[in-house]
Amino acid sequence: MSLADRSLRGPVLSSSELEALLGDELPLLELLHQAFVVREHSFGRRVQVHVLDNARNARCPEDCGYCSQSAISDAPLDPYEWKRRSEMLENARAAYDLGAYRYCIVASGRGPTRKQTAALAETVRCIKRELPIQVCVSVGLLDEEKARVLKQAGVDRLNHNLNTTAALYPKICTTHTHADRCATLDAARAVGLEQCSGLIMGMGESNADLVEVALDLRERSVASIPLNFLIPIEGNPVQSDGSLNPERCLRALAMLRLANPGAEVRAAGGREGHLGSLEALSLWPANSLFVGGYLTTLGHDALATYRMIRDAGFEVELPDGKVASWAQLGLDEEFRVLGSERILKPDVATEIP
Ligand code: SF4
Repeated sequence: MSLADRSLRGPVLSSSELEALLGDELPLLELLHQAFVVREHSFGRRVQVHVLDNARNARCPEDCGYCSQSAISDAPLDPYEWKRRSEMLENARAAYDLGAYRYCIVASGRGPTRKQTAALAETVRCIKRELPIQVCVSVGLLDEEKARVLKQAGVDRLNHNLNTTAALYPKICTTHTHADRCATLDAARAVGLEQCSGLIMGMGESNADLVEVALDLRERSVASIPLNFLIPIEGNPVQSDGSLNPERCLRALAMLRLANPGAEVRAAGGREGHLGSLEALSLWPANSLFVGGYLTTLGHDALATYRMIRDAGFEVELPDGKVASWAQLGLDEEFRVLGSERILKPDVATEIP
């Protein structure tokens, strides 16, 4: 039975089988094909595009070593308090007009107060009243009471990344624990919010660690899994461990897909820098992407991303479930005919006999 069949029909792939996918036993293109078969089964060739809005920047008391907004980072950021409701509504509208499936509100901090949660809930209510866009919220640690307030306001999904394994967690953060993170995901599930939770690669984890997180997320029936590739930001204590290259990143995406056949898998933060010229291959296992950059770093804009999606033979899904036309997304309907371009017709100095 093929890997794709095993992933879709079981018995589920074991830890050692998943770990082997991160080595070089199976050629990369073969692995990507297997991941694609599973991806196609659940999502066809559709790609959901997400836009992040950094609603509160920096001044976080936590010490997550990978984060430029943490209390221990020396990254030169311009801190700001929670954005006004009108600004977030405008940003949500801009995301919707851009063709985004989901608008993701992210705020720095350990977690929101009751008052902040209520204000955020009101903002989400306004957005949902005006726009048929999916809304995700990522605002730190939450208990059930706060998660319920957000759910009742219309939040579709709550993001809270596990980031890495429980054993490695103290190496990247000491102000909260892996168990705290799990408790927030449990709160989301308890109130009926979809869970979005993923990981960051490149912080000293082994293949076994990556698989452990992948299986933990499966166990938790997480709906969406963003795979972030550590962006080495000057001033942050945790810098890239040097393990990331395009092939390793693609193998990890494929492993996540085969371990979690029905989950949305996202080539998330750092895809541009770490996947380089192989970026489009991320669409074989992954079915979603961020556009327009990340919280404190730049990324590819929507147009460049749409072009990549189109050229790779995939399509963009809108919040109403329809597929966007390329013209709607600001691209030509047809591929350019490169044959007519000068660069493909160099001057020939001498005639070939
Ligand atoms: S809690 Fe969030 S914002 Fe604060 S340091 Fe950790 S990752 Fe950064």
